[in-house]
Amino acid sequence: MLGELAAKFTEIGQPGFRARQLLDWVYRKRARSFAAMSDLPAALRTILAERFTLGSIETVRRLGSDDTTQKYLFRLPDSQLIETVLIPASPALYGEASDRRTLCISTQVGCAYGCKFCASGLDGWKRNLRAGEIIEQILRVEESCGEKVNNLVFMGMGEPLANYEQLLRAIGIINAPWGIGLGARHITVSTSGLAPQIRQLADQPLQIRLAISLHGATDPVRTQIMPVNRKYPLAILLDACRYYHARKKQKLTFEYILIDRVNDTEEQAVALAGIAADLDAKVNLIPYNTVEGLTWTRPPLARQQAFQGVLRSRGVQSTLRREKGHDIAAACGQLRRQTMTAPVA
Ligand code: SAH
Ligand code: SF4
Repeated sequence: MLGELAAKFTEIGQPGFRARQLLDWVYRKRARSFAAMSDLPAALRTILAERFTLGSIETVRRLGSDDTTQKYLFRLPDSQLIETVLIPASPALYGEASDRRTLCISTQVGCAYGCKFCASGLDGWKRNLRAGEIIEQILRVEESCGEKVNNLVFMGMGEPLANYEQLLRAIGIINAPWGIGLGARHITVSTSGLAPQIRQLADQPLQIRLAISLHGATDPVRTQIMPVNRKYPLAILLDACRYYHARKKQKLTFEYILIDRVNDTEEQAVALAGIAADLDAKVNLIPYNTVEGLTWTRPPLARQQAFQGVLRSRGVQSTLRREKGHDIAAACGQLRRQTMTAPVA
């Protein structure tokens, strides 16, 4: 952060304003080396280059899909792999005509929560990402595609709220005018439902948007899909959501993957409509993407539409996500697994 960096500079006998210059090079001018920072004294550039590294993640693969979704696989300094997905325009996601460039970023290597539909948790949790590793995903993608990302979703690999401290640190920098300068309303954190951290997030000042991975509208169905529901059952989760809604006065989003004959019944649709209406939330319906090694499938289109019809008839705002990136294994964690099991030259 700016203040911390200024203090570090003062410690090594440099004026505090050098911190701002350095951040300007990193975030505005996107310098890739200390040597390029021409308005810093040469001696300081040498010291910085000796003590620090600029940039720690390396692009391993970049896959483009027919519908222009781009998927990036990055290698971290300890050789772990993470995924980042760029979705150029996502009216299907947000229900409006837009020139949004949405970036979906990861917060952990693997995931400890083991949701039954998700590739990210299949090999368990490896480690939390550091704030720098979270932010660098944005820098590397913008550098590669030559455009600014204007919408950020924490829906990649990992449970963001289980890496709360580094997540908030990263968001602080992403939001700061001296950092990436992206407004909090353009940042969405998605969670599998860690109720205490949802309350914590509600109590911090930024107007970050919150999405809840619901995927089941009653406890038995949700527990079958998401083991975290045992720890934070619906009543506790929805209480925390109510608290967030009251504090932030913003609409929450429920994500709901449609899985054939698991959570796509009329009974679930009615229960989901009740939950969403109670919280004045909107619903994103997402047809399940088949994951290698998992048996579930998506319902036929007619069944997806019937499910949405129930929400609509009860006045709940919803979108049914159009296919995006299916051909490049865009559901989080899939590309990493493919690469781990069949390394590319
Ligand atoms: N851990 C957080 C953030 C990860 S993103 C969370 O669970 O919310 C999780 C989202 O990725 C899910 O809500 C879903 O929208 C998407 N996703 C993961 N696996 C999927 C699959 N097999 N098919 C479709 N969407 C999937
Ligand atoms: Fe983890 Fe989210 Fe995947 Fe569940 S859906 S295993 S919480 S990344």
